[in-house]
Amino acid sequence: MAPKKKSANLLRCPTCGMLVQLKDEDFPFCSDRCRKIDLGKWAMGVYKISSPILDPDVLEDLGGLGGGGGDSDES
Ligand SMILES: [Zn+2]
Repeated sequence: MAPKKKSANLLRCPTCGMLVQLKDEDFPFCSDRCRKIDLGKWAMGVYKISSPILDPDVLEDLGGLGGGGGDSDES
């Protein structure tokens, strides 16, 4: 029954691996900077995935392909 509450209240910052206390306002990050860095990674990942879909040029291409389908009907 060794009291290990210390480890229970500590986590490592996902960004830099620094020990962070549960009471820290930026928990589980060691600082607001590391929090933003982690959020930035997510934002970049999401952007990479959604970019091709939200890209107006891609949507235009898709629309052009759909309209071009009329060729088969006209033949
Ligand atoms: Zn950190």
